[in-house]
Amino acid sequence: MFFADIIIPVPTPQLYTYSIPENLQQNCKTGMRVSVPFGKTKIHTGVIRKIHQIAPTEYKFKEIFAILDTESVISDLQFQFWEWIARYYMCTLGDVLKAALPIDSPNEHKPKTETYISLNSEVSKENLPQIFEKLEKKSQKQTQLLQSFLLFSNFFQEAKPVKLKEFLKYSNSSLNILNSLIKRNILQKNEKIVNIFENLDLEIEPLSTLNEEQLIVYQQINDLFQQKDVVLLHGVTSSGKTEVYIHLISDAIRCGKQVLYLLPEIALTIQIIQRLKTIFGNLIGIYHSKFNDFEKTETWNRVFAEQDFRIILGVRSSLFLPFKHLGLIIIDEEHENSYKQHDSAPRYNARDGAIMLAKMHGAKTLLGTATPCIETYFNAQIGKYGLVELQKRYSDIEMPEILTVDVREFFKKRQMKSHFSPVLLQFIENALNNNEQIILFQNRRGYSPYLECETCGWIPECEHCDVSLTYHKDSNSLVCHYCGFSMEFPSHCLACGDYSLRTKGFGTEKIETEIATFFPSIKTARMDLDTTRSKKSYQKIISDFESRKIDILVGTQMISKGLNFDNVSIVGIMNADAMLNFPDFRADERSFQLITQVSGRAGRRYKRGKVIIQTQQPEHPILKFIEVNDFFAMYLSQLAERKKFLYPPFFRLIQLTLRHKHLEVVKKAATFFAEMLRKELNLVLGPTSPAVSRVKNYHLKNILIKIDRKISPEISKNSIQTCINLLKSSGIFNSGEIIINVDPL
Ligand code: ADP
Ligand code: ZN
Ligand code: ZN
Repeated sequence: MFFADIIIPVPTPQLYTYSIPENLQQNCKTGMRVSVPFGKTKIHTGVIRKIHQIAPTEYKFKEIFAILDTESVISDLQFQFWEWIARYYMCTLGDVLKAALPIDSPNEHKPKTETYISLNSEVSKENLPQIFEKLEKKSQKQTQLLQSFLLFSNFFQEAKPVKLKEFLKYSNSSLNILNSLIKRNILQKNEKIVNIFENLDLEIEPLSTLNEEQLIVYQQINDLFQQKDVVLLHGVTSSGKTEVYIHLISDAIRCGKQVLYLLPEIALTIQIIQRLKTIFGNLIGIYHSKFNDFEKTETWNRVFAEQDFRIILGVRSSLFLPFKHLGLIIIDEEHENSYKQHDSAPRYNARDGAIMLAKMHGAKTLLGTATPCIETYFNAQIGKYGLVELQKRYSDIEMPEILTVDVREFFKKRQMKSHFSPVLLQFIENALNNNEQIILFQNRRGYSPYLECETCGWIPECEHCDVSLTYHKDSNSLVCHYCGFSMEFPSHCLACGDYSLRTKGFGTEKIETEIATFFPSIKTARMDLDTTRSKKSYQKIISDFESRKIDILVGTQMISKGLNFDNVSIVGIMNADAMLNFPDFRADERSFQLITQVSGRAGRRYKRGKVIIQTQQPEHPILKFIEVNDFFAMYLSQLAERKKFLYPPFFRLIQLTLRHKHLEVVKKAATFFAEMLRKELNLVLGPTSPAVSRVKNYHLKNILIKIDRKISPEISKNSIQTCINLLKSSGIFNSGEIIINVDPL
């Protein structure tokens, strides 16, 4: 009798063993997907990890229902990668499966088709007159339709099948008449598979010639790849990093390898794909979460077949595509925290996962950014990674000029116009007069982060979370950014009944509204989570701004990530303090990255750009580093702090979050759990309440574990797992959840 160990998308650590019915034994291989019964009523799609002859003894095994593939769809190498993720990020293989196969059934989908009409093969130029003669006697309408078909399909030059829908529209005719012509064997219908990836008829262009600096860097990278698996390209914004990537991709493709080009954000894939398509044509495919199942499946299959799509441009989930011969992984904007999945397991960092994946393939990894993350730069400094630098912008465009504006003065003198200093407004006006564009950055969406009653101090909060509700003007509602709860804007204070509710603080929506009142004749747009819910809306904002239909673009960190706009001369940072004062040990580093990146959008082609930073603490060291664009000084200052306070890169962090409906339960469990952990590990901090300590009616408690880099993380992780198991079996945390976040950001 044969058995299969099967990975099932449920959050239990073990695999489940099923028996293989005899009629399926012949076609059963590891890496195939199967349909299996689970529990009393459920049916799951799982993946066979192992086939053997040992019957499980602890439980009564069930039988596999069906095999869903004709060949293995998951290779050994992919399994190894899944297992690494599960081990490193302390999650189950079922969790990884869910992230890796977002679609239920790769390889077996119904392709979308479209109906085409063409002349029947029996019709030719020679017998056409006879056909017309006969037809004219029978039906005037059919004759007319045939005539218009010949015209529409370009019959007298090179007849092409035409789309049924388009033709009916053109001829203003009915399907009935058309069908009569088909019955007479004059026309014929065909179903064609729709090519969902627009095969753009682009002229394929040769690679650009690298300039001197880029060429040196390109050669250095190749040399370093002889000794190192990972190289960091630290290049200022607009130095031509992307051009260097393109040359390396081209080399890898020529050696018959596959390439993965990772970006942190869908918006970026949209902007860069055009540039890459003109060079690599249909060798390149995109992959991201806004694709539907059909598109995802199609991409999966094309990568699997290794035909076209030898290069994948994608976001973090593309790590799980079925690569067979990866030669190079490029991780652009490597410092971005959106590479880390934080909302559900596996809570993996795609940058770190990619480095591991590349290693398994014997491939190389190139990390690129203008603002490396401290941990990455540290790895480069100690020689673990190779390091190369591009310090000049392409064609000697100058770095933007940074101007820090002390808003305290203007507040005192009552010269602020709401959130705009007179300096910023003046620069905006000048730029508008010169037909230049402007970007305004505010890292908060909505109109204002909270409301307050001026009489009694009441602040509307979410019913389900311990957080104030954000006012959204568009919908005239108060919205919870943690759970989505919303309520209508209250007409009066719900605590004291007074009518003195005021909006406090500001988000992107307010900035957009206000700037439009200052400059009524201009066009504004906003790019944040609220305005980019669909793939199309992203594209529209970006292309409208590119084609200058929009004068001022207001946005959150979404606009900071590597978008290129040629005509932007002014970048305004509305409130640097919100970033600098954020209570997190990475706040300084993040502020430096964000402001430097947003600044990089200014003055890219025609003239030097200007960045205006509004702040109440102009003397803040991070702002000083930004002003002189001194990454290294920032790095050294941060590194000293990290060392002193035991943070990465010197210590690894693991955050454990306990989640429960009842506050008392979570409190007690967290205290008990922390005590257990302290017996096993040196540095256990907490339990503490997170900034938002209740989300969706669940109470949260955090415990932070710090592990010295010199100690093996495996041992610590085992201890943590032991404590988790003890907590689970203790009975004090029934129906509670423990969220494990390794390397939290
Ligand atoms: P980065 O990725 O470092 O921000 P990009 O590669 O986007 O920089 O380059 C910035 C601009 O300069 C782009 O418009 C790009 O086309 C142009 N550019 C950079 N290098 C070259 C080159 N060698 N030849 C032609 N244009 C280049
Ligand atoms: Zn009140
Ligand atoms: Zn809420």
